[in-house]
Amino acid sequence: MSDTNLYSVLHTGFSARLDAVAIQTPQRNYTFHDIDAGSGRVAAWLASLRLPVGSRVAVQVEKSPEALMLYLGTLRAGLVYLPLNTAYRESEIAYFLGDAEPAVVVCSGANKDWVEPLAQRNPGSRVVTLEEDGSGTLIDAVSGFEPAFQTVACAPDDLAVILYTSGTTGRSKGAMLSHKNMVSNAQVLHTYWGWRSDDVLLHMLPIFHVHGLFVAAHGALLAGARMIWLPKFDLEQALHYLPESTVMMGVPTFYVRLLSDARFNHDLCARMRLFVSGSAPLLTDTFESFQARSGHTILERYGMSETVMLTSNPYRPIDGPRVGGTVGRPLPGVSVRVVDDNLQPLPDGEIGHIQVRGDNVFSGYWRMPEKTKEEFTPDGWFRTGDMGRWNEQGYLVIVGRSKDLIISGGFNIYPKEIETLIDDMPGVAESAVVGVPHADFGEAVVAIVVPRQGVALDALQIQATLKNSIANFKVPKKVHVVPELPRNTMGKVQKNVLRDQYKGI
Ligand code: AMP
Repeated sequence: MSDTNLYSVLHTGFSARLDAVAIQTPQRNYTFHDIDAGSGRVAAWLASLRLPVGSRVAVQVEKSPEALMLYLGTLRAGLVYLPLNTAYRESEIAYFLGDAEPAVVVCSGANKDWVEPLAQRNPGSRVVTLEEDGSGTLIDAVSGFEPAFQTVACAPDDLAVILYTSGTTGRSKGAMLSHKNMVSNAQVLHTYWGWRSDDVLLHMLPIFHVHGLFVAAHGALLAGARMIWLPKFDLEQALHYLPESTVMMGVPTFYVRLLSDARFNHDLCARMRLFVSGSAPLLTDTFESFQARSGHTILERYGMSETVMLTSNPYRPIDGPRVGGTVGRPLPGVSVRVVDDNLQPLPDGEIGHIQVRGDNVFSGYWRMPEKTKEEFTPDGWFRTGDMGRWNEQGYLVIVGRSKDLIISGGFNIYPKEIETLIDDMPGVAESAVVGVPHADFGEAVVAIVVPRQGVALDALQIQATLKNSIANFKVPKKVHVVPELPRNTMGKVQKNVLRDQYKGI
């Protein structure tokens, strides 16, 4: 059987560079050999537990090089990795552990007292700890094992990872990703973004999410490139490490924060070849300001937990320009369509449902066959839940989640259209438009607007300006001016929080 184990594929990318630095932290360097040996010990320990095929290893720990080795070791042992957001508290973890029934749970020592009883609801489950500094009972347990481990061969459809979606309504769903899903995406991005072994990736993203764990870390490992590995985004550290970096991946807030500092300039980016943004929409204003200040054009891409990466703006100039406000074209091997409610493809410019197909698309939600069936069309396309349109260049423009669509007085209203108009007004930093229950209209439009620093915005003036440019039914019934929008750790605006907060109209 040929081996599709994701680790085996990543290993082919760095095996010629075992002595090179794979991970650089402010404290120390780890070579590829260290990563291979560390993940080998983890895999050997896991193998010694003789767990049934498909057993889950649930992990809620701070970011560290050892946490990456734990991920890779789990892959090497042929088990299923289940990363959990470090922000989750007891009731949330209780749900994930109950749903996924992991055989091994790795948490911080500080949380062990409440994690252990939850884990032990699953008979035979083991709990070990891992700290941000790389110590913990996991490390004690694996240290007695040999670093050389024969990675378990995997078939393409073998389950590699379960990623719970950050669902804002209902139960969070576990997206089941296979080795093939991730191998195909890692290889496509390797070529498409021109990864090289002399790249240096500035890695400041969390590693419990598709962006930091898959897109960023897989990219560097497959290229045999160095990662500057920081626990999180920190402006001082980012400014410090930018001059030696060649690639940075970030959520839009990283870029906003870099721009907020006068020290961020052209010179700091002299070695840079690629800035990537994703996970949430990048404002055109940020895209343009960044271009002016750094001389670099951010490459925006689009993807999600269930599908890894779907579309990307071009990397090579020969493939076309990078266009702000768009997420580019489908990646090689990925099919994307924009359809109406009857699954009929729409002409360019018309807004519809974004649906996708390809080796990158997951097989379904963990123990939710009904939900899985609902989310795939009868002809096999995955319903992303995003709405969008093709522009005249064949680039995809995302207009928002379908559940954020507002239906007021029977009319469909796309929040993005109104947000774009508000964002273009002088003194506006950003905005969010949501629908809230309304006795007459079903839903009413409400805008929440953040002013630029030092600017006082007039809510009534914003309403009046909108009245002159869009149909009355789209004009917000109420405009709230607030200092900032609520965001989750991946920089996504939490519209459910806003809907709840501003529901009284
Ligand atoms: P997650 O599964 O947490 O990665 O969230 C995926 C969702 O993030 C997608 O379905 C989109 O709604 C959103 N998203 C990801 N990348 C972008 C982007 N470049 N622009 C707009 N929305 C994005």
